[in-house]
Amino acid sequence: PQFSEVGLTDELLKSLNEAGYQQMTPVQAMSLPLLLRGDDVVVQAQTGSGKTAAFALGILAKLEVTEFAPQAIVLCPTRELAEQVAEAIRKLAKNMANVKVLTLCGGVPTRNQIASLEHGAHVLVGTPGRVLDHLNQNRLNFAKLQTLVLDEADRMLEMGFQDELRAIVAKTPNSRQNLLFSATYPKGIKQLAEQVSKNAQLLKV
Ligand code: AMP
Repeated sequence: PQFSEVGLTDELLKSLNEAGYQQMTPVQAMSLPLLLRGDDVVVQAQTGSGKTAAFALGILAKLEVTEFAPQAIVLCPTRELAEQVAEAIRKLAKNMANVKVLTLCGGVPTRNQIASLEHGAHVLVGTPGRVLDHLNQNRLNFAKLQTLVLDEADRMLEMGFQDELRAIVAKTPNSRQNLLFSATYPKGIKQLAEQVSKNAQLLKV
């Protein structure tokens, strides 16, 4: 399909156009229609496949901008990746009014993050340890959370974030949409995917 054929808003189509994204990548073509329908998906895709824009569009397509509470969280293995993901989401959100994307990563002072959280955000992007810290300190409210994304899930498991991931998932509403992206699909990822979602569709590019 074309970006113009899957029911995206004019604001998102404008951002795609400005980003120079004319054709969907294979990952986007496979996952976007399902993802926009609200389905849970497990996508086996490499970096460079266009996976970030796929889940960013999924998040932004259902965002209620007037509802100033975290509606999506993206968990990433590293701070570098989290920053890139946040930038990619901001780029696609730029023609929507005032979408706030906040990064919550370890290795940076917690104090600034607490202040930012008090100001509110629509989309959170972070690393599991720090996100769990904020949750345990009751600084995050997931009542309005609609979308949970695990990006580079295989790397998060390799880095030993399994318990953090499980604890974070347990604090999200059951009604959420689950999106899991992983370059590889070993047993641990299959187990994690099953823990996160009972009915995810597995897509392999
Ligand atoms: P990712 O796999 O998310 O790391 O994305 C890899 C690169 O592809 C990024 O630099 C994106 O800006 C770019 N990209 C994503 N989707 C498209 C598209 N549909 N057309 C052209 N470039 C794209």
